[in-house]
Amino acid sequence: MLEKIVIANRGEIALRIQRACRELGIKTVAVHSTADASQKHVLLADETVCIGPPASADSYLNMPAIISAAEVTDSAAIHPGYGFLSENADFAERVNDSGFIFIGPPPRVIRMMGDKVEAIRAMKAAGVPCVPGSDGPLGDDVDENLRMARNIGYPIIIKAAAGGGGRGMRVVNTEASLTSSISLTRSEARAAFGDDTVYMEKFLANPRHIEFQVLADQHGNCIHLFERDCSMQRRHQKVIEEAPAPGITPEQRQRMGERCARACREIGYQNAGTFEFLYEDGEFYFIEMNTRLQVEHPVTELITGIDLVKEQLRIADNQPLRFTQEDITLRGHAIECRINAEDPKTFTPSPGRVELWHPPGGPGIRVDSHLYSGYVVPPFYDSMIGKVIAYGDDRESAIARINIALSEMVIEGIKTNIPLHQEICQHGAFKSGGTNIHYLEKRLGI
Ligand code: ADP
Repeated sequence: MLEKIVIANRGEIALRIQRACRELGIKTVAVHSTADASQKHVLLADETVCIGPPASADSYLNMPAIISAAEVTDSAAIHPGYGFLSENADFAERVNDSGFIFIGPPPRVIRMMGDKVEAIRAMKAAGVPCVPGSDGPLGDDVDENLRMARNIGYPIIIKAAAGGGGRGMRVVNTEASLTSSISLTRSEARAAFGDDTVYMEKFLANPRHIEFQVLADQHGNCIHLFERDCSMQRRHQKVIEEAPAPGITPEQRQRMGERCARACREIGYQNAGTFEFLYEDGEFYFIEMNTRLQVEHPVTELITGIDLVKEQLRIADNQPLRFTQEDITLRGHAIECRINAEDPKTFTPSPGRVELWHPPGGPGIRVDSHLYSGYVVPPFYDSMIGKVIAYGDDRESAIARINIALSEMVIEGIKTNIPLHQEICQHGAFKSGGTNIHYLEKRLGI
Protein backbone atom coordinates (compact mmCIF):
# COMPACT_ATOMS: atom_id res chain seq x y z
CA MET A 1 0.00 0.00 0.00
CA LEU A 2 1.02 3.63 -0.51
CA GLU A 3 2.98 4.81 2.52
CA LYS A 4 2.31 8.51 2.53
CA ILE A 5 0.23 10.86 0.40
CA VAL A 6 -0.26 14.59 -0.01
CA ILE A 7 -3.85 15.79 0.31
CA ALA A 8 -4.00 18.73 -2.09
CA ASN A 9 -7.26 20.22 -0.88
CA ARG A 10 -8.94 21.76 2.13
CA GLY A 11 -12.14 21.64 4.16
CA GLU A 12 -14.42 18.67 4.57
CA ILE A 13 -13.01 16.70 1.64
CA ALA A 14 -9.44 16.95 2.94
CA LEU A 15 -10.64 15.53 6.25
CA ARG A 16 -12.66 12.83 4.45
CA ILE A 17 -9.58 11.72 2.48
CA GLN A 18 -7.46 11.81 5.62
CA ARG A 19 -9.90 9.52 7.42
CA ALA A 20 -9.69 6.95 4.61
CA CYS A 21 -5.88 7.14 4.71
CA ARG A 22 -5.76 6.63 8.44
CA GLU A 23 -7.98 3.56 8.13
CA LEU A 24 -5.61 2.12 5.57
CA GLY A 25 -2.50 3.03 7.55
CA ILE A 26 -1.39 5.66 5.02
CA LYS A 27 0.41 8.73 6.43
CA THR A 28 -0.96 12.10 5.35
CA VAL A 29 0.66 15.39 4.45
CA ALA A 30 -1.69 18.37 4.66
CA VAL A 31 -0.73 21.21 2.35
CA HIS A 32 -2.49 24.42 3.30
CA SER A 33 -2.63 28.15 2.74
CA THR A 34 -1.73 30.60 5.50
CA ALA A 35 -5.48 31.09 6.07
CA ASP A 36 -6.01 27.37 6.74
CA ALA A 37 -3.34 26.55 9.33
CA SER A 38 -5.97 25.66 11.93
CA GLN A 39 -8.11 23.40 9.74
CA LYS A 40 -9.03 20.15 11.45
CA HIS A 41 -7.20 17.91 8.96
CA VAL A 42 -4.10 20.09 9.23
CA LEU A 43 -4.09 19.64 12.99
CA LEU A 44 -4.49 15.87 12.55
CA ALA A 45 -1.98 15.37 9.72
CA ASP A 46 1.28 13.49 10.11
CA GLU A 47 3.07 16.35 8.36
CA THR A 48 2.03 19.78 7.17
CA VAL A 49 3.41 22.12 4.54
CA CYS A 50 2.25 25.70 4.06
CA ILE A 51 2.04 26.26 0.31
CA GLY A 52 1.22 29.94 0.08
CA PRO A 53 -1.00 32.89 0.92
CA PRO A 54 -4.83 32.67 1.15
CA ALA A 55 -5.71 33.26 -2.52
CA SER A 56 -6.32 29.87 -4.20
CA ALA A 57 -4.24 30.91 -7.20
CA ASP A 58 -1.21 31.22 -4.89
CA SER A 59 -1.85 28.11 -2.79
CA TYR A 60 -4.30 25.35 -3.73
CA LEU A 61 -3.78 26.03 -7.43
CA ASN A 62 -0.02 26.46 -7.08
CA MET A 63 1.25 23.34 -8.86
CA PRO A 64 5.00 23.74 -8.18
CA ALA A 65 4.37 24.36 -4.47
CA ILE A 66 2.21 21.24 -4.14
CA ILE A 67 4.67 19.06 -6.05
CA SER A 68 7.57 20.42 -3.93
CA ALA A 69 5.59 19.49 -0.82
CA ALA A 70 5.38 15.91 -2.10
CA GLU A 71 9.14 16.00 -2.75
CA VAL A 72 10.22 17.36 0.63
CA THR A 73 7.95 14.97 2.53
CA ASP A 74 8.95 11.99 0.39
CA SER A 75 5.31 11.19 -0.38
CA ALA A 76 4.20 8.58 -2.90
CA ALA A 77 1.07 10.16 -4.28
CA ILE A 78 -1.18 13.22 -4.42
CA HIS A 79 -4.96 13.16 -3.88
CA PRO A 80 -6.55 16.25 -5.44
CA GLY A 81 -10.03 15.92 -3.85
CA TYR A 82 -12.64 17.87 -5.86
CA GLY A 83 -12.43 21.38 -7.25
CA PHE A 84 -9.04 23.13 -7.39
CA LEU A 85 -6.64 20.97 -9.47
CA SER A 86 -8.70 17.79 -9.46
CA GLU A 87 -9.66 17.95 -13.14
CA ASN A 88 -6.54 19.68 -14.39
CA ALA A 89 -4.82 17.35 -16.86
CA ASP A 90 -1.64 19.45 -16.85
CA PHE A 91 -1.37 19.07 -13.10
CA ALA A 92 -1.92 15.30 -13.27
CA GLU A 93 0.79 15.12 -15.92
CA ARG A 94 3.23 17.20 -13.88
CA VAL A 95 2.56 15.02 -10.84
CA ASN A 96 3.33 11.88 -12.87
CA ASP A 97 6.35 13.43 -14.56
CA SER A 98 7.75 14.34 -11.15
CA GLY A 99 7.59 10.69 -10.15
CA PHE A 100 4.41 10.74 -8.04
CA ILE A 101 1.10 8.96 -8.44
CA PHE A 102 -1.88 11.18 -9.24
CA ILE A 103 -4.89 9.67 -7.46
CA GLY A 104 -7.31 9.89 -10.36
CA PRO A 105 -7.51 8.87 -14.01
CA PRO A 106 -4.63 9.19 -16.51
CA PRO A 107 -3.99 12.77 -17.75
CA ARG A 108 -5.05 11.78 -21.27
CA VAL A 109 -8.53 10.82 -20.07
CA ILE A 110 -8.90 13.93 -17.88
CA ARG A 111 -8.01 16.04 -20.94
CA MET A 112 -10.48 14.22 -23.19
CA MET A 113 -13.37 14.53 -20.71
CA GLY A 114 -12.45 18.14 -19.88
CA ASP A 115 -13.27 19.03 -23.46
CA LYS A 116 -17.02 18.51 -23.53
CA VAL A 117 -17.10 18.26 -27.32
CA GLU A 118 -14.51 15.48 -27.22
CA ALA A 119 -16.31 13.82 -24.31
CA ILE A 120 -19.60 13.73 -26.22
CA ARG A 121 -17.83 12.33 -29.27
CA ALA A 122 -16.24 9.55 -27.18
CA MET A 123 -19.53 8.74 -25.45
CA LYS A 124 -21.44 8.52 -28.72
CA ALA A 125 -18.83 6.12 -30.03
CA ALA A 126 -19.24 4.04 -26.87
CA GLY A 127 -23.03 3.86 -27.28
CA VAL A 128 -23.91 6.30 -24.47
CA PRO A 129 -26.99 8.40 -25.37
CA CYS A 130 -26.27 12.16 -25.67
CA VAL A 131 -28.43 15.30 -26.01
CA PRO A 132 -29.22 16.03 -29.70
CA GLY A 133 -26.81 18.77 -30.71
CA SER A 134 -24.15 20.09 -33.04
CA ASP A 135 -21.96 16.97 -32.76
CA GLY A 136 -18.88 19.11 -32.67
CA PRO A 137 -17.68 22.69 -32.23
CA LEU A 138 -19.61 25.52 -33.86
CA GLY A 139 -17.92 27.31 -36.75
CA ASP A 140 -18.32 30.94 -37.82
CA ASP A 141 -20.76 30.24 -40.65
CA VAL A 142 -23.90 32.08 -39.48
CA ASP A 143 -26.26 30.33 -41.91
CA GLU A 144 -24.90 26.92 -41.03
CA ASN A 145 -25.43 27.60 -37.30
CA LEU A 146 -28.97 28.85 -37.93
CA ARG A 147 -29.73 25.77 -39.99
CA MET A 148 -28.35 23.48 -37.28
CA ALA A 149 -30.40 25.16 -34.53
CA ARG A 150 -33.54 24.97 -36.66
CA ASN A 151 -32.98 21.22 -37.13
CA ILE A 152 -32.47 20.65 -33.42
CA GLY A 153 -35.43 22.89 -32.56
CA TYR A 154 -35.59 25.80 -30.10
CA PRO A 155 -34.89 26.34 -27.26
CA ILE A 156 -31.25 25.36 -27.59
CA ILE A 157 -28.30 25.90 -25.25
CA ILE A 158 -24.86 27.15 -26.29
CA LYS A 159 -22.14 25.63 -24.11
CA ALA A 160 -18.42 26.20 -23.77
CA ALA A 161 -16.40 23.04 -24.51
CA ALA A 162 -14.09 23.93 -21.61
CA GLY A 163 -16.94 25.05 -19.33
CA GLY A 164 -17.47 23.88 -15.76
CA GLY A 165 -19.05 24.83 -12.47
CA GLY A 166 -22.26 25.86 -14.17
CA ARG A 167 -20.53 28.63 -16.14
CA GLY A 168 -20.21 29.13 -19.88
CA MET A 169 -23.77 28.32 -20.90
CA ARG A 170 -26.49 30.36 -22.58
CA VAL A 171 -30.05 29.36 -23.47
CA VAL A 172 -31.39 30.62 -26.78
CA ASN A 173 -35.15 30.68 -27.23
CA THR A 174 -35.52 32.20 -30.69
CA GLU A 175 -33.62 32.40 -33.93
CA ALA A 176 -33.28 36.19 -33.63
CA SER A 177 -30.79 35.95 -30.80
CA LEU A 178 -28.80 32.90 -31.93
CA THR A 179 -25.87 34.60 -33.62
CA SER A 180 -25.30 37.18 -30.90
CA SER A 181 -25.64 34.49 -28.21
CA ILE A 182 -22.99 32.39 -29.88
CA SER A 183 -20.53 35.31 -29.96
CA LEU A 184 -21.32 36.29 -26.37
CA THR A 185 -20.79 32.75 -25.05
CA ARG A 186 -17.59 32.55 -27.13
CA SER A 187 -16.12 35.69 -25.60
CA GLU A 188 -17.16 34.68 -22.08
CA ALA A 189 -15.60 31.26 -22.60
CA ARG A 190 -12.39 32.85 -23.89
CA ALA A 191 -12.20 35.09 -20.83
CA ALA A 192 -13.13 32.42 -18.28
CA PHE A 193 -11.46 29.30 -19.65
CA GLY A 194 -8.94 30.57 -22.24
CA ASP A 195 -10.75 28.55 -24.91
CA ASP A 196 -13.57 29.90 -27.06
CA THR A 197 -14.76 26.57 -28.45
CA VAL A 198 -18.55 26.37 -28.11
CA TYR A 199 -21.16 23.83 -29.15
CA MET A 200 -24.93 23.62 -29.35
CA GLU A 201 -27.38 21.31 -27.64
CA LYS A 202 -31.13 20.91 -27.43
CA PHE A 203 -32.25 22.66 -24.23
CA LEU A 204 -34.36 20.15 -22.39
CA ALA A 205 -37.38 21.82 -20.79
CA ASN A 206 -37.81 19.98 -17.50
CA PRO A 207 -35.11 17.38 -17.04
CA ARG A 208 -33.82 15.80 -13.88
CA HIS A 209 -30.09 15.51 -13.22
CA ILE A 210 -29.15 11.87 -12.72
CA GLU A 211 -25.56 10.66 -12.57
CA PHE A 212 -23.86 7.26 -12.42
CA GLN A 213 -20.84 6.49 -10.25
CA VAL A 214 -18.10 4.28 -11.69
CA LEU A 215 -14.92 2.70 -10.39
CA ALA A 216 -12.22 1.35 -12.69
CA ASP A 217 -8.88 -0.21 -11.80
CA GLN A 218 -5.62 -0.29 -13.75
CA HIS A 219 -6.28 -3.86 -14.89
CA GLY A 220 -9.29 -3.22 -17.12
CA ASN A 221 -12.00 -3.93 -14.52
CA CYS A 222 -14.85 -1.38 -14.48
CA ILE A 223 -17.99 -1.38 -12.42
CA HIS A 224 -20.82 1.04 -11.75
CA LEU A 225 -22.29 1.84 -8.35
CA PHE A 226 -25.76 2.91 -9.40
CA GLU A 227 -27.05 6.45 -9.73
CA ARG A 228 -27.65 9.63 -7.76
CA ASP A 229 -30.34 12.24 -8.29
CA CYS A 230 -28.90 15.76 -8.06
CA SER A 231 -31.81 17.74 -9.49
CA MET A 232 -32.16 20.05 -6.49
CA GLN A 233 -29.98 22.86 -7.89
CA ARG A 234 -29.54 26.60 -7.68
CA ARG A 235 -27.58 28.31 -10.45
CA HIS A 236 -26.56 24.90 -11.77
CA GLN A 237 -25.02 24.10 -8.37
CA LYS A 238 -26.26 21.05 -6.49
CA VAL A 239 -27.91 21.67 -3.12
CA ILE A 240 -29.37 18.26 -2.17
CA GLU A 241 -28.46 14.87 -3.59
CA GLU A 242 -29.88 11.41 -3.09
CA ALA A 243 -29.37 7.80 -4.07
CA PRO A 244 -30.99 5.92 -5.62
CA ALA A 245 -32.91 8.29 -7.93
CA PRO A 246 -36.67 8.14 -7.22
CA GLY A 247 -38.67 6.31 -9.86
CA ILE A 248 -35.77 4.77 -11.77
CA THR A 249 -36.48 1.12 -12.43
CA PRO A 250 -33.96 -1.66 -11.74
CA GLU A 251 -33.87 -2.30 -15.51
CA GLN A 252 -33.05 1.33 -16.35
CA ARG A 253 -30.42 1.35 -13.60
CA GLN A 254 -28.76 -1.78 -14.88
CA ARG A 255 -28.89 -0.75 -18.54
CA MET A 256 -27.42 2.73 -18.00
CA GLY A 257 -24.93 1.59 -15.38
CA GLU A 258 -23.60 -1.10 -17.68
CA ARG A 259 -23.30 1.38 -20.55
CA CYS A 260 -21.23 3.67 -18.34
CA ALA A 261 -18.98 0.83 -17.20
CA ARG A 262 -18.53 -0.24 -20.82
CA ALA A 263 -17.70 3.33 -21.87
CA CYS A 264 -15.06 3.45 -19.12
CA ARG A 265 -13.42 0.37 -20.55
CA GLU A 266 -13.45 1.87 -24.03
CA ILE A 267 -11.88 5.18 -23.07
CA GLY A 268 -9.32 3.57 -20.75
CA TYR A 269 -10.80 5.16 -17.66
CA GLN A 270 -9.23 4.53 -14.25
CA ASN A 271 -10.17 5.37 -10.66
CA ALA A 272 -13.49 6.93 -9.55
CA GLY A 273 -15.63 8.91 -11.99
CA THR A 274 -19.14 10.13 -12.65
CA PHE A 275 -21.26 10.13 -15.80
CA GLU A 276 -23.74 13.00 -15.64
CA PHE A 277 -27.04 12.74 -17.48
CA LEU A 278 -30.17 14.78 -17.94
CA TYR A 279 -33.23 12.57 -17.66
CA GLU A 280 -36.51 13.49 -19.31
CA ASP A 281 -39.54 11.44 -20.40
CA GLY A 282 -37.84 8.19 -19.51
CA GLU A 283 -34.70 8.91 -21.55
CA PHE A 284 -31.13 9.59 -20.39
CA TYR A 285 -28.92 12.14 -22.19
CA PHE A 286 -25.20 12.34 -21.33
CA ILE A 287 -23.97 15.87 -20.57
CA GLU A 288 -20.51 15.41 -19.12
CA MET A 289 -18.14 13.23 -17.18
CA ASN A 290 -16.47 14.29 -13.94
CA THR A 291 -13.09 12.64 -13.68
CA ARG A 292 -12.81 12.90 -9.90
CA LEU A 293 -14.48 12.24 -6.58
CA GLN A 294 -17.79 14.13 -6.26
CA VAL A 295 -19.04 16.17 -3.32
CA GLU A 296 -22.07 13.88 -3.20
CA HIS A 297 -20.13 10.58 -3.11
CA PRO A 298 -21.34 9.69 0.44
CA VAL A 299 -24.90 8.89 -0.68
CA THR A 300 -23.48 6.18 -2.95
CA GLU A 301 -21.26 4.91 -0.14
CA LEU A 302 -24.27 4.55 2.14
CA ILE A 303 -26.43 2.58 -0.28
CA THR A 304 -23.60 0.29 -1.47
CA GLY A 305 -21.48 -0.03 1.68
CA ILE A 306 -18.39 0.78 -0.41
CA ASP A 307 -15.90 3.41 0.73
CA LEU A 308 -15.11 5.21 -2.52
CA VAL A 309 -12.05 7.04 -1.19
CA LYS A 310 -10.47 3.84 0.10
CA GLU A 311 -11.11 2.27 -3.30
CA GLN A 312 -9.49 5.28 -5.00
CA LEU A 313 -6.38 4.75 -2.87
CA ARG A 314 -6.29 1.02 -3.60
CA ILE A 315 -6.69 1.62 -7.34
CA ALA A 316 -3.89 4.21 -7.28
CA ASP A 317 -1.79 1.55 -5.54
CA ASN A 318 -2.38 -0.65 -8.61
CA GLN A 319 -4.55 -3.16 -6.77
CA PRO A 320 -7.32 -4.88 -8.76
CA LEU A 321 -10.91 -4.09 -7.78
CA ARG A 322 -11.96 -6.32 -4.93
CA PHE A 323 -15.46 -6.88 -6.27
CA THR A 324 -17.28 -7.62 -9.51
CA GLN A 325 -20.49 -5.98 -10.70
CA GLU A 326 -22.52 -8.83 -9.21
CA ASP A 327 -21.09 -8.09 -5.76
CA ILE A 328 -22.51 -4.56 -5.76
CA THR A 329 -25.94 -4.43 -4.21
CA LEU A 330 -28.23 -1.54 -3.47
CA ARG A 331 -29.73 -1.25 -0.03
CA GLY A 332 -31.89 1.55 1.39
CA HIS A 333 -31.87 5.22 0.55
CA ALA A 334 -29.54 8.15 1.32
CA ILE A 335 -30.01 11.92 1.17
CA GLU A 336 -27.31 14.58 1.46
CA CYS A 337 -27.73 18.29 2.26
CA ARG A 338 -24.81 20.59 1.49
CA ILE A 339 -24.38 23.02 4.35
CA ASN A 340 -23.09 26.41 3.23
CA ALA A 341 -21.94 29.39 5.26
CA GLU A 342 -24.35 31.79 3.60
CA ASP A 343 -27.49 33.78 4.20
CA PRO A 344 -30.39 31.35 3.56
CA LYS A 345 -32.41 34.04 1.77
CA THR A 346 -29.89 36.19 -0.10
CA PHE A 347 -27.19 33.51 -0.52
CA THR A 348 -24.43 36.01 0.35
CA PRO A 349 -21.46 34.23 1.92
CA SER A 350 -21.26 34.43 5.70
CA PRO A 351 -17.66 33.74 6.78
CA GLY A 352 -16.55 34.24 10.38
CA ARG A 353 -16.04 32.53 13.71
CA VAL A 354 -18.16 29.50 14.58
CA GLU A 355 -19.11 30.19 18.17
CA LEU A 356 -20.86 26.88 18.68
CA TRP A 357 -20.93 23.69 16.63
CA HIS A 358 -23.17 20.83 17.56
CA PRO A 359 -23.45 18.18 14.83
CA PRO A 360 -26.53 15.94 14.65
CA GLY A 361 -26.27 12.21 15.31
CA GLY A 362 -28.24 9.05 15.85
CA PRO A 363 -28.98 6.05 13.64
CA GLY A 364 -28.24 6.57 9.95
CA ILE A 365 -26.73 10.05 10.27
CA ARG A 366 -23.33 10.90 8.84
CA VAL A 367 -21.75 14.34 9.07
CA ASP A 368 -18.76 15.18 6.87
CA SER A 369 -17.51 18.52 8.12
CA HIS A 370 -14.30 20.15 9.24
CA LEU A 371 -16.09 22.54 11.61
CA TYR A 372 -15.40 22.83 15.33
CA SER A 373 -16.42 25.44 17.87
CA GLY A 374 -14.01 28.35 17.55
CA TYR A 375 -13.11 27.56 13.91
CA VAL A 376 -13.05 30.61 11.70
CA VAL A 377 -14.57 30.13 8.24
CA PRO A 378 -12.23 32.08 5.96
CA PRO A 379 -13.74 34.35 3.29
CA PHE A 380 -11.42 33.14 0.52
CA TYR A 381 -12.96 29.85 -0.57
CA ASP A 382 -16.15 28.02 -1.45
CA SER A 383 -18.84 28.54 1.19
CA MET A 384 -19.56 24.84 1.75
CA ILE A 385 -18.73 23.94 5.36
CA GLY A 386 -19.98 20.41 5.45
CA LYS A 387 -22.56 17.86 4.49
CA VAL A 388 -25.18 16.07 6.51
CA ILE A 389 -26.22 12.74 5.11
CA ALA A 390 -29.12 10.57 6.25
CA TYR A 391 -29.55 6.88 5.50
CA GLY A 392 -32.75 4.89 5.91
CA ASP A 393 -34.22 1.55 4.86
CA ASP A 394 -36.35 3.45 2.38
CA ARG A 395 -36.73 7.02 1.11
CA GLU A 396 -39.38 7.87 3.66
CA SER A 397 -37.19 7.01 6.62
CA ALA A 398 -34.20 8.80 5.08
CA ILE A 399 -36.37 11.94 4.78
CA ALA A 400 -37.53 11.61 8.38
CA ARG A 401 -33.93 11.26 9.54
CA ILE A 402 -32.59 14.17 7.48
CA ASN A 403 -35.32 16.40 8.94
CA ILE A 404 -34.46 15.35 12.49
CA ALA A 405 -30.74 15.89 11.79
CA LEU A 406 -31.34 19.37 10.36
CA SER A 407 -33.37 20.34 13.40
CA GLU A 408 -30.66 19.07 15.80
CA MET A 409 -27.76 20.75 14.05
CA VAL A 410 -26.47 23.89 15.75
CA ILE A 411 -24.07 26.30 14.09
CA GLU A 412 -23.83 29.65 15.86
CA GLY A 413 -21.81 32.69 14.88
CA ILE A 414 -22.29 32.45 11.14
CA LYS A 415 -25.35 32.20 8.93
CA THR A 416 -26.03 28.92 7.16
CA ASN A 417 -28.47 27.52 4.64
CA ILE A 418 -29.90 25.03 7.18
CA PRO A 419 -33.30 26.86 7.21
CA LEU A 420 -33.50 26.50 3.42
CA HIS A 421 -32.78 22.76 3.66
CA GLN A 422 -35.46 22.38 6.32
CA GLU A 423 -37.95 24.15 4.13
CA ILE A 424 -37.17 21.96 1.13
CA CYS A 425 -37.04 18.66 3.02
CA GLN A 426 -40.38 19.25 4.71
CA HIS A 427 -42.11 20.17 1.50
CA GLY A 428 -44.54 17.84 -0.21
CA ALA A 429 -42.91 18.10 -3.64
CA PHE A 430 -39.59 16.90 -2.28
CA LYS A 431 -41.31 14.16 -0.34
CA SER A 432 -43.02 12.92 -3.53
CA GLY A 433 -39.61 12.73 -5.26
CA GLY A 434 -38.51 13.26 -8.83
CA THR A 435 -38.57 17.08 -8.98
CA ASN A 436 -36.73 18.56 -11.97
CA ILE A 437 -33.69 20.86 -12.11
CA HIS A 438 -35.86 24.03 -12.18
CA TYR A 439 -37.87 23.19 -9.10
CA LEU A 440 -35.73 24.95 -6.49
CA GLU A 441 -35.23 28.19 -8.43
CA LYS A 442 -38.93 28.37 -9.21
CA ARG A 443 -39.75 27.86 -5.56
CA LEU A 444 -37.32 30.57 -4.58
CA GLY A 445 -38.82 32.83 -7.22
CA ILE A 446 -35.53 33.36 -9.09
P1 ADP B 1 -20.97 22.13 -15.71
O1 ADP B 1 -19.77 21.41 -16.21
O2 ADP B 1 -20.77 23.60 -15.69
O3 ADP B 1 -21.52 21.56 -14.43
P2 ADP B 1 -23.05 20.69 -17.21
O4 ADP B 1 -22.92 20.39 -18.65
O5 ADP B 1 -22.84 19.54 -16.27
O6 ADP B 1 -22.08 21.91 -16.85
O7 ADP B 1 -24.48 21.33 -16.92
C1 ADP B 1 -24.79 21.85 -15.65
C2 ADP B 1 -26.28 22.01 -15.50
O8 ADP B 1 -26.81 22.88 -16.54
C3 ADP B 1 -27.08 20.72 -15.63
O9 ADP B 1 -27.14 20.00 -14.41
C4 ADP B 1 -28.44 21.28 -16.04
O10 ADP B 1 -29.06 21.85 -14.90
C5 ADP B 1 -28.09 22.42 -16.98
N1 ADP B 1 -28.00 21.99 -18.40
C6 ADP B 1 -26.89 21.65 -19.07
N2 ADP B 1 -27.16 21.25 -20.34
C7 ADP B 1 -28.50 21.33 -20.48
C8 ADP B 1 -29.44 21.03 -21.56
N3 ADP B 1 -29.05 20.59 -22.75
N4 ADP B 1 -30.77 21.24 -21.31
C9 ADP B 1 -31.21 21.69 -20.12
N5 ADP B 1 -30.39 21.98 -19.08
C10 ADP B 1 -29.05 21.81 -19.24
